[in-house]
Parts: sequence; structure tokens; C-alpha cells
Amino acid sequence: MEFSEFADLPVIDCHAHIPLRIRKEDDLKKEAETLKELIKKGYLTQMYLSAGSLGLYLKVKYPGLFYAGCPLPNPEASRRVDWDRHLSRLMEAGFDGIGEIVSKPAPRRERIPLNDPYYEGFWSTCESRGYTVLCHVADPEEFWDERLAPSWAKERGWIYCGDEYPSKEELYNEMEEILDNHPRLKIVLCHFYFMSADLEGLSSFLERHRNANVDLALGIELIYNISKRRDDWRTFFIEYGDRIFFGTDIGVSRSLRQHLDRIWLIRNFLESDEEFYTPSTADQLLTRYEEPFRGLSLPRHVLERIYSANFRRLWGTEPKSVKVDLAASICEEMGDRMTANLLKTAKTKEMP
Ligand SMILES: [Zn+2]
Repeated sequence: MEFSEFADLPVIDCHAHIPLRIRKEDDLKKEAETLKELIKKGYLTQMYLSAGSLGLYLKVKYPGLFYAGCPLPNPEASRRVDWDRHLSRLMEAGFDGIGEIVSKPAPRRERIPLNDPYYEGFWSTCESRGYTVLCHVADPEEFWDERLAPSWAKERGWIYCGDEYPSKEELYNEMEEILDNHPRLKIVLCHFYFMSADLEGLSSFLERHRNANVDLALGIELIYNISKRRDDWRTFFIEYGDRIFFGTDIGVSRSLRQHLDRIWLIRNFLESDEEFYTPSTADQLLTRYEEPFRGLSLPRHVLERIYSANFRRLWGTEPKSVKVDLAASICEEMGDRMTANLLKTAKTKEMP
């Protein structure tokens, strides 16, 4: 299908990034314009950006278009965090949610599990104050097996062989403990929680944890795996349509063309009945399979939930406005002078 043939519905991307390495004002302004153009050409309504303090700048520059997720402090820098005070200040400044926070497999000596005492108070604050968390746990199971992992994963060091790495199950157990202890926590688990090879497992997980949700940010393996059991998964999507969120991981892609390819792949997958392939222009992480994928051709009321209604239920119907002075001082505290200055300039130029 072409973009213009997709359902005429609001579409909110719950999972996008700006590369944090951007350190020049001009580069950030260019990136901002690309995203603005992407929203138009990609038929998006809004985006939730996990981009550290840069997200606050985008919110001020283009009011109404961007939601922003706040980053967590570096655990090394500050062992003890007063989470309630810390997070409520960030939210007051204008962040809309927490994360993407990431619990990818890392050697045990380096990682701080999400259920570590370090996070004491974090999860209960999010739960009691109703802050929505976007959270990446684990990785595709093939990344634990040298023979099965794709070359681009190995090149990036995403290969987890040997005892020093936690298993996928260990990472899941950590998350399940958090979900058990915080049944009202609003949480979206990224990349379909890497369970696209296990329909029964994901159904039972979603039944056990009624507050947990998953996003569709690729991981191209999710389209591949779901295509293999297309009819069963189609039933699943209809049944769990209020627990599935549209996301892209834009920002892993670099150019406008690559960003658009990510949006197209997921929408074509959800809406068409076609056999289709990764476009030749797509970013490297989406290349892996020879076989065609198969679209789910979901009914409109399910698309409507996945594209925007679920998002608005968790993150609110509109992005929060930014308190520019507070936001600027928070950026300075984070060591981000550039964004602090841009915010101050934006305030005098663009805000009433
Ligand atoms: Zn991401």
C-alpha cells in the first residue's frame, strides 16, 4: 500500500529518538526540521521522543507535536536518588513520561538490574504518581546465539554468549517482580517485549500482568515471526488491541527516507493483506530475511487503538507544556548548556 492509502486515523509514534550525540545548535535545528517534515510526510499526528533534554527543546519549538520522555540519572554519578523529588521536578518542567529506559543484556558486573535497590522508590513513584514508563527489556533471543545473530548485531556488540551475561529469562524475571509489586504501574514494553516468537507466552504474560503493554517498534524479527503464524497473531492483535502501541524506533534510522521506511513497514504490516519486503532504502537493522512478510489487515477499530487511543490513555490527550525557566535550569544541571540556551532563546522569540 502507499502512504496515501493507509487509514485516515490519528497516528502517534510512542517510540522515537534524536541521536544524543548532537552537540551543535545547527545540527539540532536541522534534526528538528527533519522530524517536523517526517510528521507531515509520514502522516503522523505526534511523536513521543526519548531524547534526553533535547526533547524539551522540540516541545517548545513545535508546540503540540512532541511528547518527551525524561532520561534517568547515570547510576554511577549518584548512588542515591530521591526519586519522588527528582521525577516530580522533571515532570513539572514539561516531560510527559519516563524513558525509554533500557535493560539490555550487559555483563553482570556492569549492569544494575531494574529491580536493584538503586531503583527503590523509582517504580513506586511512577506507580503512585501515574508516570508512564517506556521500557526496553532483553533483546531478540537469537542474540544469545553466535550462529543465529545477524552480522549487524555482532558488529554492535549485541551478542550475549557466556555466563557473564544474564539470560533472557533472568531479565524477564526482574521485570515480572516489578510488575507483581506494582500492579497499577503504567508501562509499555518496547519491541513487543521480544516475544514475537512465542504467542502463547505473550498471551499468558499479558493475562498475568494486566497493566503491561507492548509497543511495535522494530526489531524486524517481530514482523517476520508474526508473519509466520499470521492468522493466529491476527486474532491476538484483535483480542489485545488495547495493549499494543504503535512505535518505530526512529532515530536508529538516520535519514528522512529511512524514517519513512520504518513507519511504512509497520503500517503496511498492520493494514495491508500483502506479501511485502523491507524496502531497499531502509536502514541496516531492518535487513535480515529473504522471505516476504505478510500483512495483518486489521479492522479499523483495532488500528484506532494501536495508533492513538492507547497512547492517549496512558500519556494524556495532549503533550504537557514546558516551563521554560525550570527546563533550562534542569538542562544546565544535566550539563546540557546548548539546550538550555536554545530554550531561553526560544522563550523570548516564540513564546508569548
Ligand atoms: Zn528505542
